[in-house]
Order: sequence, then structure tokens, then C-alpha cells
Amino acid sequence: EIPPKEGEEVKEEESEPIEISNVPITTRFPPEPNGYLHLGHAKAVSFNFAVARMFAPDGRCHMRLDDTNPSKENQEYIDSILEDVRWIQKNTEPFSIAEPALDKKEDEGPWFGKVHKTSDSFQLIYDCAKALIENGDAYVDSLSAEEMKEYRGTLTEPGKDSPYRTRTVEENLDLFEKMKNGECAEGEHIVRAKIDMASPNVNMRDPALFRIKHESHPCTGDEWCIYPMYDFSHPIQDSVEGITHSLCTLEFEDHRPFYDWTLDKLLPTGLIQARPRQIEFSRLNLKYTVLSKRKLIQLVEEKVVSGWDDPRMPTLSGMRRRGCPPEALRLFCERVGISKADSFIDVGDLENCIRETMDDTSMRAFAILKPLKVTITNWQGSSLEEFEVPRHPKKEEMGDRTVPFGKHLYIEREDFFDLEGPEGEANGGRKPKGFKRLLPNDKVRLKYAYVIHCDEVIRDENGEPIELKCTLLPETRAGVTPEGMKRVKGIIQWVEANTAIKCKINQYDRLFKTEEPGKATGNFLDDVNPDSLEVLDDCLIEPSVAMDTLGMLAKIRNNEKEDSNDKIYHSELAYQFERMGYFALDPETTSGKPVFNRVVTLRDTWAV
Ligand code: ATP
Ligand code: MG
Ligand code: MG
Repeated sequence: EIPPKEGEEVKEEESEPIEISNVPITTRFPPEPNGYLHLGHAKAVSFNFAVARMFAPDGRCHMRLDDTNPSKENQEYIDSILEDVRWIQKNTEPFSIAEPALDKKEDEGPWFGKVHKTSDSFQLIYDCAKALIENGDAYVDSLSAEEMKEYRGTLTEPGKDSPYRTRTVEENLDLFEKMKNGECAEGEHIVRAKIDMASPNVNMRDPALFRIKHESHPCTGDEWCIYPMYDFSHPIQDSVEGITHSLCTLEFEDHRPFYDWTLDKLLPTGLIQARPRQIEFSRLNLKYTVLSKRKLIQLVEEKVVSGWDDPRMPTLSGMRRRGCPPEALRLFCERVGISKADSFIDVGDLENCIRETMDDTSMRAFAILKPLKVTITNWQGSSLEEFEVPRHPKKEEMGDRTVPFGKHLYIEREDFFDLEGPEGEANGGRKPKGFKRLLPNDKVRLKYAYVIHCDEVIRDENGEPIELKCTLLPETRAGVTPEGMKRVKGIIQWVEANTAIKCKINQYDRLFKTEEPGKATGNFLDDVNPDSLEVLDDCLIEPSVAMDTLGMLAKIRNNEKEDSNDKIYHSELAYQFERMGYFALDPETTSGKPVFNRVVTLRDTWAV
């Protein structure tokens, strides 16, 4: 658990004990396919899967598409949701497949059994509404949307009965039939539960059950022109699937009485058999970002970002493309924990989970983001020298890599401070405080190789250094400090010029400038950070990275041929570019030019 920040109130969770009966504990993750999944959904996925796993081997978690509103839903969203859930649960224990055989390949996933869809139950949900009408518990209303709003009352004022509330059962059944048969216009009628227009809970003031929508549905096509409301279909679908614990976010707390009302009325009809229970938990809110599909759609449509999977997006596809490992996201969700207290979590907490995970799993390599040429004037060799160095300092099993060394090298421009040039002048003839790397007429150690001495700086017409002429100290090879020599404090990375490969690196910063985007102006787009992407086109990487990249591209091609559900992603090739941060391969990579995304810096350097 991340400890609460100062001034943040922590409500104790009402701990109702979970009753364990002989029914297997069953949860579900039920997104509406009206957008891509985001970090908030990761919390819901993790929670639902974790609860089910707690009750292994019987616990189950279902995957459900809550597809009751065809105006906003489509196949692209369905596909992305299933892909994202597969990804975030990658390499976790599967639930035992005790259910009937899986007929479709697309149905396979980390969830229990097939993918459920609320639309599979449209006929049953229709029958349920009809039964309520027959029992006098529902009616067809014909008020206009505006009138309906007026009749609903407010939080402080009770609503009043619609004049259509007293229609006879026959009249209601007849109208419902007409609605179903497509004989009515959208908005002409609506089916409502008959509960209490004076209830202090607005959700109990005759909530809608079915509305008319002359729209094609991604799964049921033109079979239906009336569609059930979320609040009505949810308890029915939960019951049909045998969900025992319907975990949802806190905004549904006030909807729970209607959830229970629906079950109370329908269980005696025999149309449904099981009684699920709704339990609420708090939403995940993150500072410096937005987590709402409506807002994320806006970012995509207004081209603030390049798409749903832009690495700056808090979507799961964006996080994946950026290179966040699914293990890091799961660790984050576990640390955030579950409670009923609303809070804003620091993005830094997520970044720390990514660092921890990637430190353990990422290979090390040398990359130069802004190259400065170095020539070793006393280089004797006719061919290159090679250093065998570890891919990971603490993990021998990851093996070694070969780093070539020669007369022509590149180092990071920022690892040299031109004390004798305009840079030094601008700084009052002093080096920056704490600067331990290379200066004119001074030494630095090239990691794994030699100590070099900078003898001469070649500058362009603006005084910008373009080449350093250096000599190497042969007796310092491979980390040795000879007796009597003063230890060189600065150690920097480098690449050999003729074997280094050019690559493009995207460096990302936060997408928003403020903690709660839109808080000041009411429009979150006002707070977009204009400098959230820096593209470096002339970076250089050591040859081992280029080799790994080619191997990865081949692996991805083979995997695509197999049409497997266990997709391999470019970002699974990830490195700690030494001293620069964690980076992952981007799908824009070609065999000629790798593209890397910076996942996260080495340390939290973000200045507020
Ligand atoms: P949005 O507000 O972004 O549209 P939603 O709640 O409408 O999200 P659904 O597709 O209905 O999205 O969500 C599926 C599940 O994910 C629900 O159980 C919902 O409660 C949960 N969920 C959505 N957002 C969050 C969040 N920020 N934190 C935790 N759980 C969330
Ligand atoms: Mg929604
Ligand atoms: Mg929803």
C-alpha cells in the first residue's frame, strides 16, 4: 500500500465479511466497448482477477463485454479490450478450464471460460422487462425527454408520477411489443420500473429499463431496435453468469438499491436463479493525467496525440507501446490497493514500479543520444578491439555482449564540458557544480575500456565543439587503475563510430502540465503540456542492440504468421541505456533504423 499523503483522509473500509458458500467465488471484468482501456481499468482488472485467484482452485473471473449501447460501441474497441486484458494478465496463472469447450479461438484468454457479452442475453433481459410489466412493476412511459427530466425532481425535491404510470398491463405489453417490432420512433416511449417517484434516492425514481434505438449492434446486428439500460441489464447478466461478487466503482453505490430491487423482483419469476452481490471500491485517479474514456477520445480525435496507443496516453495500449511491462502495472495496482477512499495517486508511484521491474529484467547497453565525436590519436590497432561485458550487472544468466572499441568513438555531448569555449565563458570560466565528467586537458574513464585524456577541442564557427582529440592510457585497460595514478572519478558510456547503428529515440514527458488537468479553466485541453515529446533523430546504439532488434523483428514476423493470441510486442525488447534511462523498441522500427521510446528515466527527476 502507498501510504496516504498528508492531509488526505483515509476512510476505514466497511468490512462486511465475504460469505463463502459452496458456490465458486466468481467475479467479472465488464467494460463497455466504447473506448480503449486505461490505467483505471487496470485496477479493476487486477482487483477482479486477484479476488478470484484468492479462492483458487475454484475462484473464477469472467471477461464480459457490457455492450448495451450500440451508438458508442464498435468492433475496434472490442478487439482492443480483449487484447489489453490478455496483455495485462500476461504470464499469470490461468484459471482451470472446467467450463464447456471453448468454441472460438478469440475467446481464449487469461479469464475463465469464454468471453461473455451482455448482448448474448438480450432476449432474456427483454423477457425480464416483460415479466416486470406483467407483474405491474414496470410500465411504458411516453413523456418527452425534457418532461421526464422535469418529473424526476431534484436531489432535494421529490419527483412526481408520470400520467402514463397508470397504463394497464395490456396497454403496456402492447406498446412494448410495438417498440420491439420497430413501430415506434426513438424517444417516443421508454420502459420504466415502477418504484417510487418520491424516493430520496433519485436512482429509485422509476429508472429506465429499455429504450428505442434504431441502430445496428456490433454483435446482434439489426435484430434489436430496443436496448436495455446498464442498471437493468447488469444485475441480470451478473446472475446469468453466476457472478457472486459484482465489484464496481463507488459511483454505483447509489445504484445498488435498484440492483437489489431488480433481483428481488426477478428471482421469484424463475427467469434468473442466482443472486449476485454488488460491492463498491474507489476509482483510481492519477495526478497529471486524465482517466476517462470521454476525455481520452477527445485527445485522439483532436489529434493532441497520435492515437490511442500514443506512448504518452494513459491507455493500456499506450503504456504497452511505451514499454511499461505488464508486471509493473500489476505491481502498481497491488500497491495502490483497494479501499473506499477516493484519492489521487502520484504518477511517480507508477514510474517507480516501472523502474523496479525494468531494473531487474532489462539488458544494459550503450546509447548516445546527442553524439560528440572523439578521436583516439594514439590508437595503435589496425582492427577493432572487443570487450566482453555483462548484459546485466547482477544477472549472469543474461550472458555477455560484445562491445567493439577503436580509434573513432562517440560520447554523449553532455558528458563533455567545454571549459575553454563559449560554454565555459557563459558559466564564468568555471565548470558546473559537481561536474565529474570530461573537461579539456582532463581525464575520464570510458566504461569497460580505457581512461582517456582530452588534448584538443575542435570547434565549429559558433564555438560548438565538434570533435575531441584524445589519447588513451593503455595501462588503464578494462577498469584497471595502475599504482600511483590518481583514480579517475568520471565514468561515461561511448560507442565505436564504425559499428554503431543510427537510431531514433522518442523522449516523453507528462502529457499535462497540472496535477488535475482542467481544474482551473474547466477544459482539460488547456493544460496539455506542449513539450511532452522530444524526438532525437541521430542517436547511436552499440551493435548488440541492432542485432537484438533484428532478432526481435524476426520473432514478431513468425508470431504474426502463427496468428497466435499470445502476441509478441516490439516493446518487449527493452534496455537500460546506461546512465540514460529505460527504453523499449517502438513498432515504427524498420530493419534499417530502430526506434526506441524512453519508458522512464533512471531516477525521478521531474521538477514540479
Ligand atoms: P470511463 O469513465 O472511463 O468511461 P467506465 O467506468 O465507464 O469508465 P467501463 O467500461 O464501464 O468504464 O468500466 C469497466 C470496469 O472498470 C467497471 O467495473 C469500472 O467500474 C472499472 N473502472 C473504470 N474506470 C476505473 C477507474 N478509474 N478506477 C477503477 N476502476 C475503474
Ligand atoms: Mg462509461
Ligand atoms: Mg461504465
